[in-house]
Amino acid sequence: MSFTNKESLLDLKNVKGHILGFPRIGAHRELKWALEDYWSKKITQGQLIQEANNLKQKNWLTQIEAGLDFVTVGDFAFYDHVLNMSSYLGVVPKRFQHKQGAPVDLDTYFRIARGRSVKGEDAPASDMTKWFDTNYHYIVPEFSTNQSFNVNGASLIQDIKRAQELATGKQGLGVKPVIIGPLSYLWLGKAVEAEEGSNKAVTLDKLDLLPDLLNAYSELLNDMAQQGVDWIQIDEPILSLDLSIEWKSAFERAYFQITKTSSKILLASYFGPLNENLALACSLPVAGIHLDGVAGHSDLANVLDKLPTYKVLSLGIVNGRNIWRNDLSKSLTLLQPFCDALGDRLWVASSCSLLHSPVDLGSEAKLTDDLKPALSFAVQKISEVATLASALNGKDVSEKITDANHAIQTRAQSTTVHNEQVRDKVDGVTDGLLNRHSPYIQRSLAQRAALNLPLYPTTTIGSFPQTKEIRSARRLYKKGELPKIAYDSAMEYSIRQAISEQELIGLDVLVHGEAERNDMVEYFGEQLNGYAFTEYGWVQSYGSRCVKPPIIAGDVSRPAPMTINWIQYAQSLTKKPVKGMLTGPITMLCWSFAREDISLKEQAYQIGLALREEVADLENAGITVIQMDEPALREGLPLRRADWSEYLKWAVDAFRLSVAVVQDTTQIHTHMCYSEFNDIISSIADLDADVITIETSRSNMELLNAFEAFEYPNEIGPGVYDIHSPIVPNQEWMQALIEKAAQRIPAERLWVNPDCGLKTRGWPETREALTLMVSAATTLRAQAVAGSNKQVKEHASVEPA
Ligand code: GLN
Ligand code: ZN
Repeated sequence: MSFTNKESLLDLKNVKGHILGFPRIGAHRELKWALEDYWSKKITQGQLIQEANNLKQKNWLTQIEAGLDFVTVGDFAFYDHVLNMSSYLGVVPKRFQHKQGAPVDLDTYFRIARGRSVKGEDAPASDMTKWFDTNYHYIVPEFSTNQSFNVNGASLIQDIKRAQELATGKQGLGVKPVIIGPLSYLWLGKAVEAEEGSNKAVTLDKLDLLPDLLNAYSELLNDMAQQGVDWIQIDEPILSLDLSIEWKSAFERAYFQITKTSSKILLASYFGPLNENLALACSLPVAGIHLDGVAGHSDLANVLDKLPTYKVLSLGIVNGRNIWRNDLSKSLTLLQPFCDALGDRLWVASSCSLLHSPVDLGSEAKLTDDLKPALSFAVQKISEVATLASALNGKDVSEKITDANHAIQTRAQSTTVHNEQVRDKVDGVTDGLLNRHSPYIQRSLAQRAALNLPLYPTTTIGSFPQTKEIRSARRLYKKGELPKIAYDSAMEYSIRQAISEQELIGLDVLVHGEAERNDMVEYFGEQLNGYAFTEYGWVQSYGSRCVKPPIIAGDVSRPAPMTINWIQYAQSLTKKPVKGMLTGPITMLCWSFAREDISLKEQAYQIGLALREEVADLENAGITVIQMDEPALREGLPLRRADWSEYLKWAVDAFRLSVAVVQDTTQIHTHMCYSEFNDIISSIADLDADVITIETSRSNMELLNAFEAFEYPNEIGPGVYDIHSPIVPNQEWMQALIEKAAQRIPAERLWVNPDCGLKTRGWPETREALTLMVSAATTLRAQAVAGSNKQVKEHASVEPA
């Protein structure tokens, strides 16, 4: 009798395990291939849907078999989960001519995402932008002034049903759908003009749409509730941003209304601490909240005081954004007090959706024995969550804990992790190493004398078209099927071609073309100590596009020069300067999986020091212009403004460390793209690069607004045409852009260049576009000379004879 009592008491302490979402791309990128086959009409829509269903089922089974208490559904998307929400709500921009109220079919869905599909007319795709501080991109919802919402969640309901069938008979297993919350959905969207065809931003207050939107949400939630789901996860990641009072109070209104459904709501936030929004989140009329226990670790100290006693707390303790194995003992120590306080009101979870981690470590066959056991991908993370929940429920998981401890310790002690020399060098970095010899003004005089460039010098960003021949040479060489000597001569051939094209076109500062690089981070990572690479560590970037970030696995150092031979070869072919071309420390860091055992700053400095050696070698080899690309500088910014300055300080310093070794006469360039720079323009100036080439053309030089309030001190090349489109730009248009720039920035400090590298373009359009660009620069140059001659003459004519 007493025994049964004790049993049931133990049963009461039933900590649950769940994840916020699973990668949809498939362990071998099955979704990518199916999508691309569908778009190129190699498979039917039925076959695409079948592949998607297989993937979903596989993902659900992984969760069930690992022993999680919920199967999460609704996290799958054919392209993007924000676009999913738009399709459930019938939010389709007018130009796609979608019949209001009709369900959004798959071809319309793809047309919104990519401008075209197998059926339906082409139309400009919706914007795509970065999902918070991740490398995932979502499709920006477009709201018009008279936006209406028409709910159709049939595809979601169908998934719920299928998952429920899979879960039948499995005691205690719940099916938990996830959707993006109404406030985050609104926040992420943009308001556009109502009339057809025009896409101009209007001053529509998005919150005006909230009442109608909430009605739509209520309808959708009721549809789900009718399927008998106990819990619904609603994601509101904007809770980890700085919110205005209007948005905060909108949360109260919204959740008061939409929680009138019969399912319980788990309100999930992630990617950072909620800080001042924590009290708000705890007070909303929802049945539970999820906190990111990794990126939002600081909230954990306060949440128990703020959480009403009947609410569930889901703690995201397994990092969904990294690839390192969870330190189970440490996690249990952290979780135990929560378990003691909350009992079955505690859930253990991934910090965020596992969307941002690769799928399955099991596929990796080439990782070293001291590294592989220290890693964990999505499939493994699910087991970690399940293990932690089991441990809290009193099950014996000591073997798993011992295993994890062992792997983590072995890794920490590995000789490939710790390099005393590198540590000493980082410790020895003084301010002196961060500064060039002279200020820009002085350097610019020295460089003018040394380089002798014309007004409006022309250049490109680095890469030239990656032809079939180039790609196949690289691939065969990597597979060991092409001897080095043949590979080298293929690369030299493409360098010769790039140089002669550029000379014919008449560019002033040349590049070698980057034929030897598959990826700007991987190329350097492979040559540096401390980096590791996976075979299948793919993470979705957008739609069918995936990236395979390298792993910073140990202290970083440079065993040998990385680029000198190629650049020197290119320089030997021409009298014009050829740019040395490197990837900067922040981009190397942001586009990799970083370590968790040392700070990001320390890792950036290590990479910065390695690059500094390369820069010095380039200079010694006679290279007079060196470009250090930092396209990722802005995306490393923390979500909260209060944290910006600390990041920007070390990021800027790491860049300076990497280049400040050169003489005044050596010109340092940098390049940035993919984002808005206006709000960090002064930090960009602090990089103290002699020249920055920067993306602006898509936004019609919106960047220049930044120069109203801030005078950029050095030279700048605002990109005059968009390389993302195969359309050859118009010369007058480019001239007009340069003239517009010259109103804000003195002409002597302006460069003329495209807005990014040309590797995705073909030669014919590249040749044509660059020729026009050079002729735009030449025309303006001639006008400037004529103008100053005229001035001299006018001046002369008023002088007494
Ligand atoms: N130098 C690189 C290139 O031209 C820069 C790429 C980038 O900005 N992402 O390809
Ligand atoms: Zn770029």
